Amino acid sequence: MTPARFAYARPATLDAALDMLAREEEATPLAGGQSLVPMMAMRVARPALLVDLNALPGLDAIEATPGVLRIGALARHAAVLDHELVAAEAPLLALALREVAHPAIRNRGTLGGSLCLADPAAELPACMVALDATLVLASAARGERRVAARDFFAGLYATARRADELLLRAEIPRAPGWSPWFEEVARRRGDYAIAGLAVMARREAGRIAALRLAFCGVEAAPRRLPEVEAAVIEGRDAAALLPGLLAPLGSAEAPAAYRLHLAQLLLRRATEHAHAAA
Ligand SMILES: Cc1cc2nc3c(=O)[nH]c(=O)nc-3n(C[C@H](O)[C@H](O)[C@H](O)COP(=O)(O)OP(=O)(O)OC[C@H]3O[C@@H](n4cnc5c(N)ncnc54)[C@H](O)[C@@H]3O)c2cc1C
Repeated sequence: MTPARFAYARPATLDAALDMLAREEEATPLAGGQSLVPMMAMRVARPALLVDLNALPGLDAIEATPGVLRIGALARHAAVLDHELVAAEAPLLALALREVAHPAIRNRGTLGGSLCLADPAAELPACMVALDATLVLASAARGERRVAARDFFAGLYATARRADELLLRAEIPRAPGWSPWFEEVARRRGDYAIAGLAVMARREAGRIAALRLAFCGVEAAPRRLPEVEAAVIEGRDAAALLPGLLAPLGSAEAPAAYRLHLAQLLLRRATEHAHAAA
């Protein structure tokens, strides 16, 4: 199919882009286009105005401040995957991005596109929750606002982003002493996850002192599971808690019971790894 008719703009400044989103109700940001363009071709998305973000200066920056690693919304998956600051400060992202799609898609797809699309199977939203990241949004009317990643993902393809807002960047706390674990099950390498698990663990004196985790592909949106995290830290059977806590998605390819089984399997592997490393 071909897309419905749409207008196209390529603003050169952030202010111009935010003005367009404020003025035109049906305006939609375009980042890497890896999801939006196919959705337009299938007429699942019908923006009246496509606001191309690709000429906005600095929106792809990756930089560290004393407290956080900042990754601009327009940073391509390939750039994040290969960046030395990401390897040093947020290696969880590199582990997960190896599982995201294929090189051609990683060359165009962006951090902001993945987070704003909020596909339940996408790896990066779960990583942002496990990393305790903060997402920085901006609008012409209200300026910048900051939303914790754990509050950003609201359900199936749903986020806390308002229609007139752009995601500017993710800020990830620099956290020496924390180490990452990521694993997923997919039908083929590069497919979206049927189930995946992102974990950050901090060890002290030979034991796990703190832990954050989030699944992808299992529920409608990634979230922290404090009871499960506590059980892992205390060495209890955390996987046994999952049936009472998770509301797994079901599909013909992967029924809910299968996703729950995979979630338990991944959690047991992550737990073994965390305790062995400690
Ligand atoms: C064959 C294929 C396989 C894939 N496999 C995976 C996979 O395994 N795992 C995975 O996670 N992803 C996968 N993807 C998705 C891909 O990784 C991209 O992350 C995803 O398409 C979105 O990024 P994008 O930059 O292309 O966003 P776009 O398609 O341009 O936009 C996506 C949505 O985000 C909005 N948006 C984009 N940027 C902003 C912003 N800064 N502020 C506000 N809104 C914004 C757009 O308006 C749109 O609604 C796959 C894609 C394809 C085509």
